[in-house]
Amino acid sequence: MKDIGGVVLDLKKIAVLGAGIMGAGIAQAAAQAGYSVILRDLQMSLVKGGLETIEKNLDKESAKGLLHEDKNVIMSRINGTTDLAQLKDVDLLIEAVVENIAVKKQIFAELDNICADYTVLASNTSSLSITEIAASTKRHEKVLGMHFFNPVSSMKLVELVKGMETADKTIEIARGFVRQLGKKEVVVERESPGFIVNRILVPYLNEAIFTYGDGIAGIEEIDLAMRLGAGMPIGPLQLADIIGLDTLYSATLVFYDEFKDPKYRPHTLFSTMIRAGYLGKKSGQGFYKY
Ligand code: NAD
Repeated sequence: MKDIGGVVLDLKKIAVLGAGIMGAGIAQAAAQAGYSVILRDLQMSLVKGGLETIEKNLDKESAKGLLHEDKNVIMSRINGTTDLAQLKDVDLLIEAVVENIAVKKQIFAELDNICADYTVLASNTSSLSITEIAASTKRHEKVLGMHFFNPVSSMKLVELVKGMETADKTIEIARGFVRQLGKKEVVVERESPGFIVNRILVPYLNEAIFTYGDGIAGIEEIDLAMRLGAGMPIGPLQLADIIGLDTLYSATLVFYDEFKDPKYRPHTLFSTMIRAGYLGKKSGQGFYKY
């Protein structure tokens, strides 16, 4: 079916916008599930970088005996391009470009003109409003949030986020796709910062930072306490370092700005660490030294 009101859409052709960390992961997962994928970035060097990442990931999976198909067959399903016009007849498009509302709105407005009426447009945004992104198109009911987690190959969850006018049928189409990838979906009925996972995770990590910043316990004690006392697989401060303290800090501020609730404020120690350039594992220094 090519109409939002009809029966289940049998998706065949997918496009992924942005060949970075998430775009490459999503394109790989879709190709492994048998879909024909167009991977688009701004420059051919970026597209090639994404394709190389996918190839390396497939090699790693192959070495572990996890690939059920020949690597070249999977790679042959992915076509790289810089040309937006090539996306005109895809069934589903997943946008994974930079986390910037102005950029995303401009891209969705362009896609709305280029893509066929039946194309469902999804954004992998972690924090921006799906309703606002959808409002830059004339197909509000066919736009949704499809929030994958990093690394896409091993993280099983996808949050399907409804904007104000997202049709139930659009969610059903996305649900079918997510299941075809071998992943599980949760539907977020009303968009709100952090959806489900980060709505709970970000304040939890922030509270761990307060526990340290207020001098209640040391870094290692806090992590050990949450691992052995609460059954967490990893301590919160170690996890904060892995996520990136700058990323976590921006997420905390998004919550604070949106809810205007002081419970979401970052600890002053956290702000000071950011100013000092302590970004966690990627910068070599966070709560731990790397
Ligand atoms: P990234 O920086 O690795 O990749 C973004 C890519 O988008 C870059 O290659 C860039 O060249 C490209 N790009 C920019 N403008 C473009 C355009 N107009 N058309 C096509 N490509 C364009 O970023 P990422 O970490 O992959 O994040 C992408 C999106 O996924 C963001 O919205 C982010 O919030 C979201 N997200 C990220 C994570 C994560 O852990 N990294 C997790 C979930 C969701």
